[in-house]
Amino acid sequence: MIETSKAPLAHPTLYGVATDGAPVIFAGRCAHCERVGFPRQTYGCEACGAHGEALAAVDLPAAGELISFAEVHRHHGADIDTPFVMAEIRLDGGLLLRGTLAPRLAGGLKVGARLCGTLVAGDRPGAPLELRFAPVEG
Ligand SMILES: [Zn+2]
Repeated sequence: MIETSKAPLAHPTLYGVATDGAPVIFAGRCAHCERVGFPRQTYGCEACGAHGEALAAVDLPAAGELISFAEVHRHHGADIDTPFVMAEIRLDGGLLLRGTLAPRLAGGLKVGARLCGTLVAGDRPGAPLELRFAPVEG
């Protein structure tokens, strides 16, 4: 179940907040081949082409495993300060996605680390909440 968050989200069609406060990823699952796709869409399954009622909305917990990462020190976008860490994350729901990590530097990160999604304020004043991933302690 998703509740309406009081704080605006940077990408409300891509992720939301579950009733327990944890961020979730808005994905879709194909009933024919079980493929999980992101972002959620209704055009057709990227694997088998099934469409319509075959594509069901699924909310995946924003938690998974760190697959790879890169520390970014130069970036031409104005929406995020450097340094920051981009990562590939294998969600528990099977989806592989790219995202930004909450830690600004990659020191101490290890491939295979457990990550959890967290909503953090963007780098600009008044910026909406962004989904970033942080290593789980312990
Ligand atoms: Zn399919």
